[in-house]
Amino acid sequence: MSVVRRKPDWGRPPWQIDFRPRSRSLPRATDYAIVGGGFTGLAAAAWLRHLAPKKTVSILEARRIGAGSSGRTGGIALGETAAGDLPGLGDVLGGLPEILGALRVDCEFEAGGVYELTHRPGAKRRSAKGAPIFWADAGGLRVAEEVPGGSVNPGKLVSGLGRAAQRLGAIIFENAPVEKIEYGELVELVVNGRVIRAAQVLVATNAMSLELSGLAERAEPKFTLAVATRPLTTGQLEALGLGMRRPFYTVDLPYLWGRVLATNSVIFGSGLVHLKDWRELEEISMGEGEAGELARRLKGRVRRLHPVLGEVEFSHTWGGPMLIGEGWRPVFARHPRTGNVLVLGAYSGHGVALSVYLGRWAAEVMAVGRELPRWNERREPIVWKV
Ligand SMILES: Cc1cc2nc3c(=O)[nH]c(=O)nc-3n(C[C@H](O)[C@H](O)[C@H](O)COP(=O)(O)OP(=O)(O)OC[C@H]3O[C@@H](n4cnc5c(N)ncnc54)[C@H](O)[C@@H]3O)c2cc1C
Repeated sequence: MSVVRRKPDWGRPPWQIDFRPRSRSLPRATDYAIVGGGFTGLAAAAWLRHLAPKKTVSILEARRIGAGSSGRTGGIALGETAAGDLPGLGDVLGGLPEILGALRVDCEFEAGGVYELTHRPGAKRRSAKGAPIFWADAGGLRVAEEVPGGSVNPGKLVSGLGRAAQRLGAIIFENAPVEKIEYGELVELVVNGRVIRAAQVLVATNAMSLELSGLAERAEPKFTLAVATRPLTTGQLEALGLGMRRPFYTVDLPYLWGRVLATNSVIFGSGLVHLKDWRELEEISMGEGEAGELARRLKGRVRRLHPVLGEVEFSHTWGGPMLIGEGWRPVFARHPRTGNVLVLGAYSGHGVALSVYLGRWAAEVMAVGRELPRWNERREPIVWKV
């Protein structure tokens, strides 16, 4: 089976992951194996050790921690899921600071609210304070609503979760792609040709390795893009309607999201590369092809939004994978081949707060037998491609 090996050129986001795990040789056995070192896998691993400090926890990451979406995300922290609230989900935005506090992760989490923007003419502007947003995008873009949410620094969230996992005793293996999973009483994972036996496994590989997660038939991999402007002045941010530094996203098309960084750069994101097979992610280069063209169009669109942005320069252009679940619902289920393997992901571009929140939940399922959520109970049989 083909797994993630090549390093694609997905560009560089405007933050850094400044934590590198200690290098160790692979174990022969582990109590818990976590496949994927993004927000989901790192949060789950740290929480597993928090709950079960005597059990061994190994994170197996194909490249480096944060190499998937988590190090390349926009960092807007939203409540609920991309499909809205789901039965039994609970308070995602309330859970995030709780988990960050318990794990001692400082990631510049702000929760001052998020603007929902609309292109609808005559939409009532509800933002109470500050200058209004009025951008020349497809006829006009303005604030329709302010909803709960905020932002994180993605580099600090990946680093902080990695540090917490390691401090609590989880072992993080980078450049450790899981090539194959054999199902039995003990699950066997093949990594760089070596076998690791695990009592329980969490597969948190998002848009990649869909044969391992069994999600090839249940979710669609995509690639999405973002750009960062050079820092703007406070006056320019005010003129743009971003003086309150609220993140924003459109609730209609054409889609646009963004937020102001601590440096006064503004990031904007939009555009999807549609893929037939997740392996096409490995071929994507930001400088060329469809991704390059979408990035050029996004920059042109941003420059046309407002006179302040007319000649703005961009310091960073990057993209990353995302996985769209059926009905935009995240997948959080046991693998049908064995109850010892859990699959978690497919946040449909809405995974910053959700990945950490559900990562904790996955650890609780594995360590203390918490029940899985009810939204994965399906009437029709799941067709898993394994
Ligand atoms: C450009 C962009 C902007 C976004 N903006 C937002 C936003 O503002 N707000 C929001 O809520 N969401 C946003 N998202 C979505 C959010 O970033 C993701 O939902 C979230 O980061 C997913 O985390 P994860 O840990 O599940 O997956 P990932 O971070 O993708 O982690 C999966 C990991 O698995 C590893 N892996 C894959 N295959 C294997 C294997 N065989 N063996 C071992 N390891 C493997 C990968 O290398 C990767 O590190 C955005 C996504 C992108 C790409």
